[in-house]
Amino acid sequence: MEAHDLTIGGVSVRYFTGGEVLNAEEPVRYLAPHEDALLAGNARVRRVVFRPLPSSPLVALYLHWSEAASLTELDARVAAGTTTEEDFHDAVTGQTLTRRCRGCGARFSILYAVEFPGFSRDRPRRLQEHDHITHCPACGTGWTAYVLEIIRRLDG
Ligand SMILES: [Zn+2]
Repeated sequence: MEAHDLTIGGVSVRYFTGGEVLNAEEPVRYLAPHEDALLAGNARVRRVVFRPLPSSPLVALYLHWSEAASLTELDARVAAGTTTEEDFHDAVTGQTLTRRCRGCGARFSILYAVEFPGFSRDRPRRLQEHDHITHCPACGTGWTAYVLEIIRRLDG
């Protein structure tokens, strides 16, 4: 499938269907190729790129759902141009980051929640309703940030 232009919460994005290669005509910021390749096949994730300001570079952003929603059906609706805001009601947005657990020192590549102007109106509701990863999977130390997904462990 081809990437599709879409409007989410009034913001224009380019949406990539599951497994699709994220290619753009210009450099994309916050795009970690190895992490992106892993997230491309994640059943709770869909990737978009968008321009925060008219003159800004494109940035990569990850739509994340707590449960493996029917994202292949969403892909089909996106392709058909029949999505509504309801399709994105349960999504939060994240970007990739490396995080070191302060309890055990293990390093992880994670997806953590970041703001998206299209979701700014009800961001607190979205974050509250979402399932976050609240503890280090290696040692159980509590994490304070909104960690959406552990993409991979980087050492140990
Ligand atoms: Zn730990």
